Amino acid sequence: MNKLIFGNAAHIAANKAKVEPTNPMLVHHGKAEGFFSCGECTHLMRRQRKRMVYKCLKRVSEAADHRLGYDACGLFEMKGGR
Ligand code: SF4
Repeated sequence: MNKLIFGNAAHIAANKAKVEPTNPMLVHHGKAEGFFSCGECTHLMRRQRKRMVYKCLKRVSEAADHRLGYDACGLFEMKGGR
């Protein structure tokens, strides 16, 4: 008979965070109305390094990479001003 082994809550939470990353900007600015992602925001810049990286111009930390698929925060502005 197979026995299920469960990890502790912290381990599960850490793994969940890797699978479902959340936008750190949501803590300070809340979520934008609607179902927009950072990839549609005018404040997201693309930079070519060894690999393509994305930076949110509104984040304090220049070093922090950003993700296209993050839920848009309250500072969201549609690319092209629409
Ligand atoms: S300002 Fe734009 S790119 Fe930056 S976190 Fe908010 S929605 Fe995303």
